[in-house]
Amino acid sequence: MITFDSVTKKYPDGTVAVDNLNLELPTGKITAFVGPSGCGKTTTLRLINRMIDITTGTISIDGVDIMQQDASDLRRKIGYVIQHAGLFPHRTIIDNIATVPRLDGATKEAARKIAAELMERVGLPATFAKRYPMQLSGGQQQRVGVARALAADPPVMLMDEPFSALDPIVREDLQQEFSRLQSELGKTIAFVTHDIDEAIKMGDLVAIFREGGNIAQLGTPQELLENPADEFVANFVGRDRGFRSLSFDSARDLPVAHAASAADLVIEDGVARGWSINGRTHKLGGTFTDNDSLRQATDVAISSPVGIAVKVDQDGRATGVITLAQIAEHLEKQRQAERNSAPTN
Ligand code: ADP
Ligand code: MG
Repeated sequence: MITFDSVTKKYPDGTVAVDNLNLELPTGKITAFVGPSGCGKTTTLRLINRMIDITTGTISIDGVDIMQQDASDLRRKIGYVIQHAGLFPHRTIIDNIATVPRLDGATKEAARKIAAELMERVGLPATFAKRYPMQLSGGQQQRVGVARALAADPPVMLMDEPFSALDPIVREDLQQEFSRLQSELGKTIAFVTHDIDEAIKMGDLVAIFREGGNIAQLGTPQELLENPADEFVANFVGRDRGFRSLSFDSARDLPVAHAASAADLVIEDGVARGWSINGRTHKLGGTFTDNDSLRQATDVAISSPVGIAVKVDQDGRATGVITLAQIAEHLEKQRQAERNSAPTN
């Protein structure tokens, strides 16, 4: 756990970038720092590995004050990933990744072995080993940056807008792959972004910063979407937060009717092919499964030409149907049950 205890950072010119910050980043989880530009996210991050000195207060990692540790020892336990990878331009990919294990005393051979394994882990083909950073795309360079940060197997990772400079598709790929990697690695991560969607996607916890280095709200993505603490947070998470909060509710419990009860549904060999409207077959508008969210099921119903969402099993066989109105009714019942079970104070 990383603990901020009344931490303030005042730059020499008088700018207070972080103001009396109290925050806990749980072990093995991603805490996303999000907020408008200039609100102190990067400063907060760089206080953790002592690239910036604290003015007052303390930061501790697993109970040990970072000021009581040697700065280079501390940094070796903390991986750091930045926006434009920050790779050494004159070193090959494999040697970029092998840098830290080499500093830690590994032989060149051992370090390269670690690096080769990491390349595979982050989805880089082995043939890239001998290339130079310039010869890679932005997304590939970010993968190298992530691999390099992981090379010393640090328990803590600091990531400062690691995917912000990438185009949307590459970015989404990397977000997904990094989430999967993290589910295996369980690092304690501080992840800075200015993008609320990325924060919600990547963060187990999200800290919304406001200008002046204050936290407006800390919570799970679901808590922030459902119960924004104030107007600033509500505006920051965006207008469609109600719809997005459906991403956290499972479609599993939706009361679907038998697929056969929808007379217009065209089913061949158990698989739903489309909707028959006035003798013509129209596209389904997608399907959902037990593993999808209410957001997905709702979207499928809205996209359907007849306003009915089709549920399928793992083999793609149609197992049920539900209308948009029935989904809304289910949602309302669920919310009502939550309201009734909420403690009154
Ligand atoms: P963010 O990462 O959220 O965009 P930063 O932590 O980079 O925010 O900056 C927070 C505030 O501190 C800003 O007002 C910025 O101008 C100021 N700042 C950052 N670095 C310095 C510095 N070295 N000297 C003076 N002010 C700084
Ligand atoms: Mg920044």
